[in-house]
Amino acid sequence: MTTVRLGSPDLAISTKEVFLMTRNLGRTSCDRCGHPVVKLDSEPRLITRKEAGIDFDMFEGLMVAEAHCPICKAKYLAWVDETQTSYYGHPMGSITHPNRVPEGYFDLSYESTFNNRPSEHDIIYNVLVDEVPNIITTFSSGVVVIQTVKVVRLTIGAAV
Ligand SMILES: [Zn+2]
Repeated sequence: MTTVRLGSPDLAISTKEVFLMTRNLGRTSCDRCGHPVVKLDSEPRLITRKEAGIDFDMFEGLMVAEAHCPICKAKYLAWVDETQTSYYGHPMGSITHPNRVPEGYFDLSYESTFNNRPSEHDIIYNVLVDEVPNIITTFSSGVVVIQTVKVVRLTIGAAV
């Protein structure tokens, strides 16, 4: 029997062996389960000194909105506008972002940490993304066409 795998959407969560702390996640999809977009829960507003912490001088002027993943409920700060920050436009201060999504944001941070590492506050469920083979077609020649389907499994209890 020959198996042919078709491409599948990139929903996988990568294993991070070496962890680099960054303020932005560099993605617009959920970092936990891979859902393509998060839902904004508030109107855009200026980031607070408390949220940005020791980096407030750099991020003062950043417009953010509280947001959550509709699937796994992870909590985020969505980046809405950075044009009034001190680093905007400076080559040394540039931050690489994905493209803006129709929901009105262009990057994410975890809500309580304002970085790419969640605290227990940001995580409602443990998330496990499984790849499950799904047979699309079996030809009389014995060739089987399989498409991998990503299945998100949620369990209670935060494990950051
Ligand atoms: Zn999610």
